[in-house]
Amino acid sequence: ESVINRIAAGEVIQRPVSAVKELIENSLDAHSTSITVVVKDGGLKLIQISDDGHGIRHQDLPILCERHTTSKLSAFEDLQSIRSMGFRGEALASMTYVAHVTVTTITSGQLHGYRAQYKDGAMEGEARACAAVKGTQVVVENLFYNMSARRKTLEKSGDDYAKIVDLMSRFAVHHVKVSFVCRKHGVARADVQSIATSCRLDAIRSVYGVNVAKNLMRIEASGDGSCAFEMEGFVSNSNYSTKKITVVLFINDRLVECGALKRAIEIVYAATLPKASKPFVYMSIVLPPEDVDVNVHPTKREVCLLNQEGIVDRIQSVIESKLRNSDV
Ligand code: ADP
Ligand code: MG
Repeated sequence: ESVINRIAAGEVIQRPVSAVKELIENSLDAHSTSITVVVKDGGLKLIQISDDGHGIRHQDLPILCERHTTSKLSAFEDLQSIRSMGFRGEALASMTYVAHVTVTTITSGQLHGYRAQYKDGAMEGEARACAAVKGTQVVVENLFYNMSARRKTLEKSGDDYAKIVDLMSRFAVHHVKVSFVCRKHGVARADVQSIATSCRLDAIRSVYGVNVAKNLMRIEASGDGSCAFEMEGFVSNSNYSTKKITVVLFINDRLVECGALKRAIEIVYAATLPKASKPFVYMSIVLPPEDVDVNVHPTKREVCLLNQEGIVDRIQSVIESKLRNSDV
């Protein structure tokens, strides 16, 4: 049974960066305003995330890492209307099957916090009282220690640290009111350091640098009837990267990928502004939740949209007219 659990866990948590994504989403779900991630050896040795969210109640600690335990889904109907990011209660459980996990947390009004350790889907011993500041700290150590093939592949494929920095940069641009810090263990200088702001351009500037923000133009689009959506974002009219297009996409406040939309954007740039074929694009789309299928893959990254064609067409034409009017 433990082998099966481990294999299933390895599907949910494929690499260090997928663990970090799940942990950040948990911190955001807990209404944190400040999230700090410290990484050692690309996350294989250590991922430490600290937030200032609402914390976890003492009585919930023993079941925290049982599969399908979630505080975010009370009834099946909720599946249709769910807006919070995680709803399957699998991320933390999965991590405990493939790593050593320690949770330190304090809820508001408590004098002290609790620390609990987890392994193989269960809490080890009792939660111990300890000093704690507001929020939750999750420490994930020795990821894939019991999956030697996976560990070797990851060690060979090189560090996930750059991927983690990229991931946190994306979150920082969307969740502008939350301050994000990401750094390597033992290094004081942060590689992502966003200051909470209410201005999206400031956030983009602080994360991606002043040069990208200089050439950004605001875009907006919406649809109605059977193709209801609202979109707002920024597109650049110059190259941001030398290698590839950067599309930071959030749908209903979830960081996702949508291959069809990305290709459509590439096509618009190639047709309208070919000299800027590696631009920076940020886009936030809000849709009726029942129009998004997020469960196409266990890692929950690639989404399918109902009415995808209509939405993509609409966005394409908005970007096209923006680029036509902006050639400099
Ligand atoms: P899910 O997010 O799908 O509910 P997870 O396995 O990611 O499942 O987390 C399990 C539960 O642990 C969450 O539902 C939440 O109640 C609690 N939790 C995890 N991380 C945090 C955190 N940083 N702050 C507060 N609660 C948390
Ligand atoms: Mg979660």
